[in-house]
Amino acid sequence: MNQRIIKIIFLYLIIFLIAFNIFGQKIKIEPAFWWVNMNNPKLQLLVYARNISTYEVSIRNKNIELVKINKVENPNYLFLDLIITKKASAGVFNIDFTNKANKKITYKYELKKRQKPANEHVGFNSSDVIYLVMPDRFSNGNIKNDSPEGMMEKADRENPDGRHGGDLQGIINHLDYISNLGVTAIWLNPFQENNRPQYSYHGYATTNFYKTDPRFGTNKDYKHFVNECHNKNLKVIIDIVLNHCDTNNWLIKDLPSPDWIHQFPEFTRTNYRIPAILDPHGSEYDRNLMLNGWFDQIMADLNHKNPFLATYLIQNTIWWIEYAGIDGIRLDTQPYSDKDFVAGWAKQIFNEYPNFNIVGEAWLQKIALTAYWQKNANNTDGYNSNIPSVTDFPLCFAIASALNEHEGWAEGMNRLYYILAQDFLYAHPENNLIFVDNHDLTRFYQSIGGNLDKFKMGLAFLLTTRGIPMIYYGTELAMGGSESEGHGYIRKDFPGGWPNDKNNAFVAEGRSNEQNETFNYLQNILNWRKNAAVISTGKLMQFLPENNIYVYFRYNQNKTVMVVLNNNDSEQTIKTERYNEAIKGNTTGFDIIMKKQIDHISEFSIAPKSAMIIELSE
Ligand code: CA
Repeated sequence: MNQRIIKIIFLYLIIFLIAFNIFGQKIKIEPAFWWVNMNNPKLQLLVYARNISTYEVSIRNKNIELVKINKVENPNYLFLDLIITKKASAGVFNIDFTNKANKKITYKYELKKRQKPANEHVGFNSSDVIYLVMPDRFSNGNIKNDSPEGMMEKADRENPDGRHGGDLQGIINHLDYISNLGVTAIWLNPFQENNRPQYSYHGYATTNFYKTDPRFGTNKDYKHFVNECHNKNLKVIIDIVLNHCDTNNWLIKDLPSPDWIHQFPEFTRTNYRIPAILDPHGSEYDRNLMLNGWFDQIMADLNHKNPFLATYLIQNTIWWIEYAGIDGIRLDTQPYSDKDFVAGWAKQIFNEYPNFNIVGEAWLQKIALTAYWQKNANNTDGYNSNIPSVTDFPLCFAIASALNEHEGWAEGMNRLYYILAQDFLYAHPENNLIFVDNHDLTRFYQSIGGNLDKFKMGLAFLLTTRGIPMIYYGTELAMGGSESEGHGYIRKDFPGGWPNDKNNAFVAEGRSNEQNETFNYLQNILNWRKNAAVISTGKLMQFLPENNIYVYFRYNQNKTVMVVLNNNDSEQTIKTERYNEAIKGNTTGFDIIMKKQIDHISEFSIAPKSAMIIELSE
């Protein structure tokens, strides 16, 4: 070979290398950093760079073992299996990537020191009341981040489905308001990046699993938010979406392998029929569509049978918990994900954080279909989700119906009785997440026809029956809004959350009389409930409703609370002989709603369409 040919080959090689930017390229690794002394020493790094699979990989650190280098169909990815031994110390270690021309790229990977002991991620339980906030719709604490560069959708407060500019700083600014209301935990709808041209504010179409949406703030801001919540004694629950992600997600745009997602010859929607998974008579056709069909055209359905994807998602969840110091998780669309994957995901989380808690969204009308998804359910197929808490949609729907209906054998107040009588189907009904509405449902105030009396009765029931209550932001202001009008109408801006808002409902003077009435009503019960162990851990005894009146008791060794719901339009006399089994030796009581003493518990009156929460005493 003469020198000229060698020169030409060399020239072409240079052009090739420049064209494909191999020397100058940046290697992306996720998770971007990890921690020493995790319970599980294994870590799988996703490495992304053009043709990275052609590189040799080496780690020269005696405390970090590179166990396996995994290649997938797409040469732009490598998955590195590491063991972070107990001897590894916090700091940086080098990962060397060397190509065939012996060119070496070194990536400095950081292992951080853990922030706090794992058991200090305290979980949540029925002593808590959770406040659900949609970050885009609560308060705009930083108008400079409303329409940042690089984000496709710009702020437009006039559009009910648009971005309104709410952010983490806005929520931080009003933590005293939230804490003062009397709730003990905050769940935010997802805050991770959702970068798409429209309808991106809700957060359920992730484009970057490791990044806070810049319209809400930065990852540091999220961590700061969690710290600020903890300073106010508020727990933080993260909303995790495992079933799907946005088609604009960088991993979807350059799939690691075709089986990373469920693919069909043309767009195929899920049938949204969760029973298809549990039905002993079900068809594979229905089951396949339910599980593998896409939730929406823009939401790619992730294939959790792919082990690299499964590990990616599990590590991503643990990363957020460890990074930000979170206390619990609300898992989106639980039954839509591969159920064995979900069980394994939960198991690994509890392996790291034994005191943690997770509530899974299982949106079903029927109790048996809901109970299946809770940890330790008595399922004939032996399935155990490892998810301790489930969303109690059957109870949610029953509350509005009970208040709206005339009394019937199983209607009106009897509806609540019948729902709770089926608690034997749940492994742990006291762990159910209970609510009167949420970000996907018609607001409760609307469901009960804007009737303030019924509204209060429903909330008194919610805060005294079994379970972990959740209150959707704005409920304390009796916000209305029907789901049938569009989701924008059930996710309206909190009044006073934006500069120059006409009314500021964060302060009493800015609220209408009706708003103050509901705010004060809730605040009173919530603050009482905080210290009422009889509600959070006491037993429940209910009596068959009679004459449109529902009576139940919460009791423990030290205390008994009697709750009376009168759904009649007239005042009623309550003769309590029938309830002696629960009343026992108690003769008097104190109604914590009206703050009124009841001298003779044997017979007392209750106002039309109202609730009484009576602490009994001898
Ligand atoms: Ca903003």
